[in-house]
This record gives sequence, structure tokens and C-alpha cells, in this order.
Amino acid sequence: MSNAEYFERARSVIPGGVDSPVRSFASVGGTPYTVVRGQGAYVYDVEGERYLDFVQSYGASLLGHAHPDVAAAISAAARAGTTFGAPTPGELHLAEAIVARVPGLEQVRFVSSGTEATMSALRLARGASRRDRILKFDGCYHGHSDALLVAGGSGLAQQGLPGSAGVTAGAVRDTLVAPYNEVPVLDESVAAVIVEPVAANMNLVAPAPGFLEGLRAECDRVGALLIFDEVITGFRLGEGGAAARFGVTPDLWCFGKVIGGGLPVGAFGGSAQLLAHLAPSGPVYQAGTLSGNPAAMAAGLSVLQALSAGLYDELAARVGRFAGRLEKAVRTGGLAARVPSVGPLAGLFLAREEFAAPRNFAEARTVLGSDLYPAFFHEMLARGVALAPGAYEILFVSLAHTDDDLDRAVDAAHAAAAAVAARAS
Ligand SMILES: *Cc1c(COP(=O)(O)O)cnc(C)c1O
Repeated sequence: MSNAEYFERARSVIPGGVDSPVRSFASVGGTPYTVVRGQGAYVYDVEGERYLDFVQSYGASLLGHAHPDVAAAISAAARAGTTFGAPTPGELHLAEAIVARVPGLEQVRFVSSGTEATMSALRLARGASRRDRILKFDGCYHGHSDALLVAGGSGLAQQGLPGSAGVTAGAVRDTLVAPYNEVPVLDESVAAVIVEPVAANMNLVAPAPGFLEGLRAECDRVGALLIFDEVITGFRLGEGGAAARFGVTPDLWCFGKVIGGGLPVGAFGGSAQLLAHLAPSGPVYQAGTLSGNPAAMAAGLSVLQALSAGLYDELAARVGRFAGRLEKAVRTGGLAARVPSVGPLAGLFLAREEFAAPRNFAEARTVLGSDLYPAFFHEMLARGVALAPGAYEILFVSLAHTDDDLDRAVDAAHAAAAAVAARAS
């Protein structure tokens, strides 16, 4: 069957044909390719077409697809039974590996998605502080729990939705929203401030110097908890994530994506004292049948064990060079471009006229709302390079992307930009 046939059939039994909206190509047009297999930096679709993949499961894959260590860990775990409803050694091993790598983090509890991690962290913050309000930043995405589904980036932004139908006014009444990169003035009603320490769901926006430090100080001033949503940055920016990189220690961390090695996982954590508020020791309830799932724990541990400070440095250096060349290639192709990078994270903003690098969601949206990205996306796809099918997502470069792969992407970007520019003028 062709991609079109697969998608058509899927649409009759799965809403929109997809289990997560951004996969649907709704914001770029056309029909998604249906992936049958991945290998390292590449994915293969049902028609046998190969794509250099910059989606990498939106950041869940850091080693690249089907890494042999991860596959071996998963199959060994599967042979021993995949879920028991009792403690397993894998939970202990992954928790120890995470806590050992993140300075200031003492305990983590595993859940099954990033959404659950942020949702549970908020409940914990509210339960521990006995305060109701939380503050998030415009354009930051923290999963799809009700209280956090306002002013999210990512797929929400692509659909032009401020929030979501089905979320009651009551559910978001205690959610305050502030512009990214400006330290808000808080008061004593605020339980917690949640932030992506590097905003990676409004394309890529780096924290301005002093922003994270300012948040830490303002939270301390009013006794609010600071939550770093490190679902993307955790174990990708470096072993200690964004907290270690920027030298700002939050009260609570949320993790997901990389720590599951491609299986469904999330985790949230902080000091032992704060986590003591969670059931069974404390009054804040939180649970999960598949939490700490043995296969997911084994996959995540195999990833953390395959990583090292040297590899992070290597990846960051490779991405830094790539970002510079990509920006130049798009510019010489005839479009204005910004390719910001923070360590191994890279973004892509396209425009017709010169523009300043966006510092918040309002600025990002002005650039990302143009019709250039859909055209550029399809020109890249036609050249065998798969970007995320949405302008608000970043470029995920895995450890399996070689310099040659990245050179190919740069060449494709030059040609794609020229094609788009020719059509636009
Ligand atoms: C992906 C993401 C989430 C949600 O994780 P899911 O596993 O998709 O529920 C939360 N926060 C950030 C920053 C993310 O990028």
C-alpha cells in the first residue's frame, strides 16, 4: 500500500489518521509518510522511500533509531516480562542513574509521559505549598493536561488555538500566563512557576541572560516553587540538563523523551523533602499501572549508559557548525533565515525580509505564521530530508547524524530555499 492508501484507511478508524495532531501534516498540507522502520539518522516509509530524519520522535530519540544497545535492552526486558505491579530493579537503576547525573536532584518518580510528569509536578507543587495558582509562559508547551493547555506552543500553535475546547474555564482559572524571557512579578498566591529552560516548542528561543536566574530569585522572594520542564532539554543539553548548563537549580524537574529510550516514559523529581509530600508518604496522590515499566526503564538506562560528557560536546559542536552552515545556505538560496542553536538544539525561522531572532512567542509567531515553512518543508521532503511537519518544532539532530548527513541537509536546504524564493517572488 502507498502512503496515501495507509493514511486514507487510518483516517476511517483513527481521528484525523493520527494519534498526535502534529503528525497529520495539517499545517503543511499533503499526506504524511507512514514509517515502517528507522535506522540511525534515517526513517523508511511504506513506499520504500528513505528520509534523513530531523524529527527523531520530537526528541525522544537521541542515539538515533534502532540503536543496537537499546534494542537489546528492550528485548531482554520483554523476555523477562513487561509489567508486574510490583517494584522492579530497573526503576531503581534508572532513578539512580538520573539522580547521579543531575546536580541537586535527589528523588524521581516515574510516570508514562511528559504530560503526566508536568501534571503531577504541578499537583505536588500545589499540595506542598497549599497554594493554587501556577504561572506558565506564552508559547511553552508542557503536555496536554487541562491546566497547562493555555498558550501552549507546538501543535496548539499550528492549529491557531489559544487553548483547547473541552478545557473548562475553571481548569485554567489558576493558570497565569506571562511572556517568555521577562521575569514576572509574583505574589504569595503562586504555588509554582513552570518553564521550558530553553523554549523548544515555539521553534527555538534561548533564555535571555539573567532570565532563569531572575525566575529563581522571584520564586524565592514569594516562596513559589520553580519547575523546570526538561522533557526536551533533559539528557539532551548535557548530562545535567538545562539546570546544570545554566547553573540555576529548580525545585522540581520534569523529564520525558530521552529518558525512555523510545518507550513511553516521564519522570518528575526534586528534593527528598519535597517528594515526601507524595503518596504513600504524603497527601498528594499520584499513581500509574505502567509507571516504571520494566521495558521502558531498561531502554532509558541503556541510553543514559551510552552517553558521556564527550559525546554531548561532540554533538553540540557538530550542531553548532551545522546551524551556521544551514543559515548561510538558506540565505544564499534567497530567503531570510535564523538558525538559533543552544548546545545540540537547533531551530529554524524563515522569512522573506531580514528579521531579528525571536525572543518570545509573540515574536516567534510573527515569523512562523508565514506560508514559507510549508513550502520549504515539502521542498526538503522531496529531497529526502524530513523536518517536523510544523513550523513551531525544532530540528532534532541525533548522535547518528554524521557530518556527511548534515552536509546533505545543508545542500538540500540551499536548493529548497531557492525553489521557495523563486516561487515567492
Ligand atoms: C513533549 C513535551 C511534553 C509532553 O510530553 P509527552 O510525552 O508528549 O506527554 C512536555 N513538555 C515539553 C517541554 C515537551 O517538549
